[in-house]
Amino acid sequence: MLTIKGLIIREEQKGESSKYIYALTAERGVIGFLVRGGMKSSKNSASTQLYVYSELCIEEKKNAAGDTLYYLNSSEAIEMFFELRLDIIKMSLAAYLTELIYYSRIEDSTDKNEILRLALNTFYFLNKGSKDREMLKSIFELRLLCETGFRPALVACSKCYKYEDDKMYFNMRSGTLECNECCTNKDSMFAVVFDKRLLYIVRHIALTDFDRLFSIRISPDYQAKLTDFTERFVKYHFKESFKTLTFYRSL
Ligand SMILES: [Zn+2]
Repeated sequence: MLTIKGLIIREEQKGESSKYIYALTAERGVIGFLVRGGMKSSKNSASTQLYVYSELCIEEKKNAAGDTLYYLNSSEAIEMFFELRLDIIKMSLAAYLTELIYYSRIEDSTDKNEILRLALNTFYFLNKGSKDREMLKSIFELRLLCETGFRPALVACSKCYKYEDDKMYFNMRSGTLECNECCTNKDSMFAVVFDKRLLYIVRHIALTDFDRLFSIRISPDYQAKLTDFTERFVKYHFKESFKTLTFYRSL
C-alpha cells in the first residue's frame, strides 16, 4: 500500500460508476488510479474531487500482462480550496492550470516537490483571492516550464554578458537573451522584447528562490505584457493551445 499526498488534477469516468483520477504528488509526479464506485456518492467522493489536496492510500496490483495498476483504497481531504469552488472564473483558471500539469513532461529527474509546492501555493492564493489572478497565472505558467526543464537563460546577454540594457531581446526558440547591440535578428518571429522592468519581472519568476516567488508586485500595464509573454512561452513549448484557456478568457 502506498500512502501519498496529492492534488487531484483530472478525472475521467470509467464504466457506469467508477472514475479514474490523476493526482500530482511529490513522490511520483502525476499518478493515475481507479476509484471504484467513484461516480456515486461514497466516503471518498469529497476527497477525490477535482482541486482537492488529499491523503491517498493506493493499492498497487499487477495484471496478467505485468502492468502495474493502481486502485484507491481510502482517502482523506487535507485542503478543499473551498472558495475556489464558488467562483466560475477561479474554477476555470484552476482547470487550465491543472491541464498544464497533466500535459507537462515530469521526468524522474524533475523536482516534483517543487511542482507540487508551486501548484499548492498558486491554489492557496487563488482560493483566498489575495493576489491578482493574472499574476498567479503568469507565475504558474513560466515557473512550471522552468521546473520541467525549460528554464530560459536570462542571466545576461548570451554574447557579451551585459546584465541589462534599455531593450533586451529574448529568443523563444533558442531560449537565450541578447542585448540591443548583439541582437542581429530583432524581427524574428521568435523574438520578444524586454524592457528593464519586464526583464526584472521575468527574471524574478524564473530565477528567484521559491520563498520569494509570489512576493512581487506587477502593475496592470506590465501584467498585460507579462501575460502576452507567458502565454506565448506556453504555446511554444507545449506546441498546442488549450481549450481551458480559451474558456477562461471567454468569461
Ligand atoms: Zn550583448
